[in-house]
Amino acid sequence: MRTQVGIVGAGPAGLMLAHLLHLRGIDSVVVDLRTREDIEHTIKAGVLEQSTVDLMTETGVGDRLRREGSVHHGINLAFGGALHRIDFAALTNGRAVTVYPQHEVLTDLIARRLADGGDLRFGVSGTRVEGISGDRPSIRFTHEGSEQRVECDFVVGADGSHSTTRALIPGRADLFREYPFAWFGILAEAPPSSGELIYAHSDRGFALISTRSPTVQRLYFQCDPHTDPGDWPDDRIWEELSARVAGAGAVVKTGPVFQKSVLRFRSFVCEPMQHGRLFLAGDAAHTVPPTGQKGLNLAVADVYLLDRALAAYYERRDTSLLDGYTATALRRVWRAQHFSWWMTSMLHRFDGTNDFDVRRQLAELDLVTGSASAATTLAENYVGLPLTP
Ligand SMILES: Cc1cc2nc3c(=O)[nH]c(=O)nc-3n(C[C@H](O)[C@H](O)[C@H](O)COP(=O)(O)OP(=O)(O)OC[C@H]3O[C@@H](n4cnc5c(N)ncnc54)[C@H](O)[C@@H]3O)c2cc1C
Repeated sequence: MRTQVGIVGAGPAGLMLAHLLHLRGIDSVVVDLRTREDIEHTIKAGVLEQSTVDLMTETGVGDRLRREGSVHHGINLAFGGALHRIDFAALTNGRAVTVYPQHEVLTDLIARRLADGGDLRFGVSGTRVEGISGDRPSIRFTHEGSEQRVECDFVVGADGSHSTTRALIPGRADLFREYPFAWFGILAEAPPSSGELIYAHSDRGFALISTRSPTVQRLYFQCDPHTDPGDWPDDRIWEELSARVAGAGAVVKTGPVFQKSVLRFRSFVCEPMQHGRLFLAGDAAHTVPPTGQKGLNLAVADVYLLDRALAAYYERRDTSLLDGYTATALRRVWRAQHFSWWMTSMLHRFDGTNDFDVRRQLAELDLVTGSASAATTLAENYVGLPLTP
């Protein structure tokens, strides 16, 4: 079997790339270990930057997002006994984020790829990428009991944070930072506690009051990485969340908790993001702590670049954008790493945090909410920088 671009991974990076390439008349085959059912029902990210929303809308996969997504024009920082609003609309010339769950983005992309006759292989096993240093790389895998080999012009490794394609990049640097805490995350059947997300600084540690839909809420609180979710019955979780936001006057609305997990806090960047005919995109190349809500959006930003670079190759045999992919992508990746680290360091309690550190954090939060230029920096980074022209 032959295709132009073989894509490993049907997450936001792989599916969005296949969709963008199709609009240019470039063929792809996407393979994924997981079933379609699993991909369409795993709840992960939910905050889409303005440029992600714009790209989905402009390329014809944004109808349901526009109808069902919830546009947020600001967030609240809870500290010093009050909520302090960061007004995105005023600070960024009308830009906003949209809360629309990642699995719904994937559902929309899969439906569109299939309607467009796209080749998506779910539930594959034994994926192996070969020949990336030559002109004819290929992907081998087993699908529905038969061994398959797809010969490609290029392979894109969009296979997530446990990427195996990444290992094919010789001499790469894996730049890594593990944080000394984690987030206890829950999904609950409850009404939203707030019209906009609340990022809370408290003596007990950080909390985030987020949402996924009018009936499903996503809430987090900072915890020890070794926390066992089994030790946390629902009542204890709600008490902890309430205690972290009550000082600022916020009230948490409760309901049955149907998922509990402990998310390790890691930052990771693989440099370079390419070798020969292999290009990495999304979590395969970088992960960020969730504080900045950047993971899904960075995946989309990477494939926006790859789509344009591959188009330049097929239309003019111009390889300059492919050659420069790592350098261009990493500028945004490192900006997002810095933003995620900044939000994290401003809001969390670290080992050994003392009164001095708390006063310093409060002074920073005061600056961010009191100075127009500091608030603008936060708002611009949160709603997301425009995609590289
Ligand atoms: C709980 C949680 C909450 C999050 N919240 C946010 C948020 O609010 N905002 C945000 O922007 N980001 C958030 N993120 C991060 C975001 O979900 C990821 O950054 C995003 O999924 C990355 O997309 P991706 O396509 O690069 O990788 P993935 O979504 O991980 O997709 C990779 C795909 O590759 C497949 N795969 C892996 N190995 C192979 C193989 N060998 N062969 C074939 N297929 C393979 C996997 O099955 C998977 O489907 C969150 C993540 C989690 C876990």
